[in-house]
Amino acid sequence: MKNNSLWLDDERKKLKKIDRDIETEVLVIGGGITGLSILYQLNKNGVNATLVERNICGEGVTSRSTAKITFLQEKLYMNIRKFEGEKVARDYLNSQIEAVNIIKNIIADEKIACDLEEVDSILFTNNKKNYKKLREEYNFLLKSNVNAKLERILELHNSLGVRVKNTYVFNPVKYINGLKDILSKNIFENSKVTDIKKNDDFYTTKVNDFLIKSKYVIVATHYPYFVFPFVLPIKSHIEKSYLGAVKSKNFKSFSAINIDDNCISMRYYKDKGVNYLIYLYGSYKSSSVTDIKHNFEKFKSKYDFEYIWSNKDIITDDYRPYIGKVYKNDSTFLISTGYNTWGMTNATIGSIIIKDIIVNKKNKYISLFDPNRCINLNRIVNFPSNLYGNAKSFLKGLQNNQSNVRYDKIDGKSVAIYKDSRGKDHIVYNKCPHMKCGILFNETELTWDCMCHGSRFDIDGRCIEGPSNFDITYDK
Ligand SMILES: Cc1cc2nc3c(=O)[nH]c(=O)nc-3n(C[C@H](O)[C@H](O)[C@H](O)COP(=O)(O)OP(=O)(O)OC[C@H]3O[C@@H](n4cnc5c(N)ncnc54)[C@H](O)[C@@H]3O)c2cc1C
Repeated sequence: MKNNSLWLDDERKKLKKIDRDIETEVLVIGGGITGLSILYQLNKNGVNATLVERNICGEGVTSRSTAKITFLQEKLYMNIRKFEGEKVARDYLNSQIEAVNIIKNIIADEKIACDLEEVDSILFTNNKKNYKKLREEYNFLLKSNVNAKLERILELHNSLGVRVKNTYVFNPVKYINGLKDILSKNIFENSKVTDIKKNDDFYTTKVNDFLIKSKYVIVATHYPYFVFPFVLPIKSHIEKSYLGAVKSKNFKSFSAINIDDNCISMRYYKDKGVNYLIYLYGSYKSSSVTDIKHNFEKFKSKYDFEYIWSNKDIITDDYRPYIGKVYKNDSTFLISTGYNTWGMTNATIGSIIIKDIIVNKKNKYISLFDPNRCINLNRIVNFPSNLYGNAKSFLKGLQNNQSNVRYDKIDGKSVAIYKDSRGKDHIVYNKCPHMKCGILFNETELTWDCMCHGSRFDIDGRCIEGPSNFDITYDK
């Protein structure tokens, strides 16, 4: 069994590192689906843009998703309807339907070989208590002119489900590689941003040892650090899930997700004549994860997995992403994030919104996703709970009670030491550089994970996922 996402099996070309100071009109930071989609739209519209990625494009959160391209998105519409009303939910639905078509057209126009398959999307429940909710969802879709069917789903043990058409699945890393090939002249990899300064009418951004001067900066780093004042931790939480891929006799033409308490999500994938079922079971608030090993063991017992991995995404308190201007009257500093585990469509619609802000074109979705939108009073109850979650994770990381990890002080600095199966010690500093939360060792994926905001470091402390921008490698 491989302890990594199956999307990371394919070879990935490496692009050049930044090797000089440069000037560009737009600087995009981060090479996941968000950054690449934005670079693509800007490039198509004749805007001079450059993207910098601190590792290799597509190896972040995007490479660990189930990669469904769908507008049927678990409980999002129910939640948005409940807190924001039917119109907001319908606007969000329309943005997602548009996004599905945009991504499909990009793949066709650019002939990107990313194993795109048209499959039905199914939202289902095995719990009779949730039938009413599912019927409401069905009625909402019908009223929104979506051709949906409410039926018994034989493939899912005769559960009750809503089925829609015109949705897809693909391989997200192959998609990123396709965009990367088209845009390679404008991308630097292994090029990490460490500082952004605003001057009168331009930004100076430090990337490795060089400076990039630009009129616009777009933060596409998943967790939008570099953004001040930094309020996202109280307006969102991190959700973590466990996923696996198991060989399957057949490829089945549907993807599915349930609305029950224990989240189940699935889709199929065909690769070089082999079929896989990609299966997700259980989503947890990152701050409630107390034992990574136990969670993985529980998950592993479900199937005879060939691949197993975990992933995390940002869940916003009003279930809408943050896309657009960070500061109300300033269109030069933009973000696109907070996709509530639906990043393929939201990064795509986000790229159109960001492009339209830059080329000064109207876009009907700007206010829907505005990062400055008013905080809905119904959701304000989550703020203390988010803060409590952060505090709990912070303390948990300080408990230092993992049996396979030793905690020590070297030269007055606190370190954590993991002894691998060959007896080699791996020493790292034991605080996440982002907000000084403690870290826990994830023995399945061999990473150090921060429980507060989800930063991850490899076994020797190199940062592989933000929000930390720095490593925890121990320098002797
Ligand atoms: C379990 C799970 C399943 C999911 N399944 C689906 C699905 O089926 N369909 C769907 O639509 N969505 C899904 N999602 C959501 C989706 O995967 C994410 O929302 C999306 O991939 C986020 O993309 P991104 O580009 O914003 O982030 P990333 O892919 O993480 O990209 C950000 C990039 O920024 C880079 N970076 C960070 N800091 C710096 C810096 N200082 N300098 C330079 N570069 C930097 C990182 O290295 C990284 O490559 C799922 C999420 C989870 C957790």
